[in-house]
Amino acid sequence: MIVVMKSGASQRQIDHIVERIEQLGLRSHIIVGTERTVVAALGEKRDGAKQALETGEGVEKVVPILAPYKMASTEVKKEPTVVAARGLKVGGGRLGVIAGPCSVESREQILEVAHLVKDAGGTGLRGGAFKPRTSPYSFQGMKEKGLQLLAEAREQTGLAVVTEVMAPEQVELVARYADVLQVGARNMQNYPLLEAVGETNLPVLLKRGPSATMDEFLLAAEYILKTGNQQVMLCERGIRTFEDHTRFTLPLASVPYLQQNTHLPVVVDPSHGTGKASLVATMARAAVAAGADGLIVEVHPDPEKALSDGFQALTPAAFRQMMAECRKLAEVMGKVISDH
Ligand code: PEP
Ligand code: MN
Repeated sequence: MIVVMKSGASQRQIDHIVERIEQLGLRSHIIVGTERTVVAALGEKRDGAKQALETGEGVEKVVPILAPYKMASTEVKKEPTVVAARGLKVGGGRLGVIAGPCSVESREQILEVAHLVKDAGGTGLRGGAFKPRTSPYSFQGMKEKGLQLLAEAREQTGLAVVTEVMAPEQVELVARYADVLQVGARNMQNYPLLEAVGETNLPVLLKRGPSATMDEFLLAAEYILKTGNQQVMLCERGIRTFEDHTRFTLPLASVPYLQQNTHLPVVVDPSHGTGKASLVATMARAAVAAGADGLIVEVHPDPEKALSDGFQALTPAAFRQMMAECRKLAEVMGKVISDH
């Protein structure tokens, strides 16, 4: 339920409602809006709770939250959430562009890509140090050494570092180096991991599981929000279908759907979404046209030699061109790609 306070309700009246919500065995979550304050009462439905809160002083009305997710819902918070880490801003008119290799492979590789991303106007640097690979025989990432190289790339360029964390026990280590914690598609429903990243104060990029519905995706985000971290971006990265002309199927209708149902910013990954370098720039443009708040794309100085996902990595020249095109489209959409 959400308790909508009258405009001009006093702090004492708000505190009293919070106290009543907690006495009813529910959790409270205050959202201060521009016009009025609302207090969400979260938890299992209780008989009589609605009536008990409705009579509170300063209360305008109490309305049920219909969506299964609560804190992620536009029913609870209408203003778009802006996720920020250094110069990376995603949402609320800012289009974040996170780019970099699938995996950190060497010092030369990550520094070269970081400068390329920075010079082309990207606002975040991606690069996996802990890699979730389908085959246990594939390159598993440089681990902590990779994190150190990402930190060096950040020092040189100022770009915010976005990197994946695969297990709750890795969160502390990865959080020491990262600006944004990426939860990968394979881990979207790893609830202990969602809670562990929820306990940090770093923004989280949550990727959609390839077989997850929108409700499942938003309920996964809800775990992070409920644990106390409000800086969450949702990433559409494609789903598994019968179709095999692309690696996954990239459903761009999820962008406007999510924006109608959640205040969290939506990022699109056209690299994993298509799995083909030749399709990436077009789908990046389509994502911007669909209203995405951000993009995450794989770029490699020499895709043929990449240790992972080379077939979907843009070359430096292709990335620069994609940036130029996306900048123009962003303007049409009333957004800017900028790090200040
Ligand atoms: C990645 O970003 O390199 C990655 C492994 O993505 P996903 O979790 O979407 O497969
Ligand atoms: Mn990849």
